[in-house]
Amino acid sequence: MSISTAPSSVEEVVPGVHRVRLPLPFALNHVNCYLLEDDDGWTVLDTGLHRPEIYAGWQAAFARLGIALGDIRRIVVTHMHPDHIGLAGRLQQETGAPVFMSPREWEVAEAAWVHGERQDEALPAYLRRVGAPPEVGALVASQQQKLRQMTQPTPVDVAFLNPGETLRMAGRRFEVIHAPGHADGQILFYAPSERLIFCGDQVLQHITPNIGLWPSTQPNPLQRYMESLQSLMALEVTLALPGHYEAILNWRGRLCELLRHHEERLQAAYAAAANGATALEVSYAIFDFDRLSPHEIRFAVAEALAHLEYLAEEGRLERYERDGFVAYRPA
Ligand SMILES: [Zn+2]
Repeated sequence: MSISTAPSSVEEVVPGVHRVRLPLPFALNHVNCYLLEDDDGWTVLDTGLHRPEIYAGWQAAFARLGIALGDIRRIVVTHMHPDHIGLAGRLQQETGAPVFMSPREWEVAEAAWVHGERQDEALPAYLRRVGAPPEVGALVASQQQKLRQMTQPTPVDVAFLNPGETLRMAGRRFEVIHAPGHADGQILFYAPSERLIFCGDQVLQHITPNIGLWPSTQPNPLQRYMESLQSLMALEVTLALPGHYEAILNWRGRLCELLRHHEERLQAAYAAAANGATALEVSYAIFDFDRLSPHEIRFAVAEALAHLEYLAEEGRLERYERDGFVAYRPA
C-alpha cells in the first residue's frame, strides 16, 4: 500500500472496509479515517479536522460509495486529538448518527474543545514551568485556539464504549481495547476472526506516536504506553489499519521497534540529565530542533517530559527546582 499524493482518496483495504485518506494542514499532512459497510448502514471511524477541504473529501467519499447521509448509522472516534474528532460534531449534525468514544476521551475532549478557553492560560504556564521560553507558550495558546476552531461544533450526547465491549462493524465482531499512552482513553478495535485491528495512533509505521505529558494527562504516560504495547503483542494481527501512513503488516515487529525506540530514548534522556536539565534542555538533546516547527516543539517538550517522568518514577532521576523551573537530575 503506497502513500497517495492526492488530497483525499478512498480505497477498499479489505471487503467492507474503505480507507478514507484526508489532508491535514500540518507536517503530518494526512489522516486515515475509515468507512465500514454493514447491511443496515455505515460506520464512520475517525473524522479528520473540521475544514472545508476535509468535508469535501468526505462528500466525495460518500458519493463514490453511493452513501446517503442517512445511511451513516454511527460515528466512532478512537481518541480526542483534533485530527480524529474534529469533524465528528458536524457529521453528527448532518447524519443524525450517534458518536461513540471512551468515557475518558470524551472527558478530555470536553475539557479541550468544549471548555477549552479555561486551558488557554494553563498550557503556556505549564510549558514555561518545564523550561520553555515565554514565546513558545504564547504561540501554543494561539495554536490551541485555531485547533479548537477546527473541532467545532463538538459532538453532543456522546455514547460511551468501554474496553471489553464488542461492536459489529463491516460484518465482523470487534473487541474494544483500551490503549493508553498517546491519549489516556484511546480505544482500538480488534477482530480476532480476521486478525484485523484498527490501531488508531497507538502503532504507526514511519513515525513514532507522540507520547507526551500534558496538564490533562494521567501520570506516567510513557509507562502506560509501553505496557500497552506489551499487551498488544499478545494479539494475533495480520493487518493493522492505523490513523496515519500505511497499514502495518508486521505487527509484532513494529511493536518491538517502538519499544526499542523508547528504551533508547530513555537512555538518551537519562544521559542528557546527567548534570541536571529541564524538559526543554532534554528535548534539545534528543530531538533535532532545527527541523521542528513551533507546532512540533511543544510535542518535543511534552515527549521529553514523559521520558523524564518515567525515569523519575523508576527512581533513576529526581525532580528538583532550578531557577523556578522543574528540572531533573540523577537520584
Ligand atoms: Zn492522529
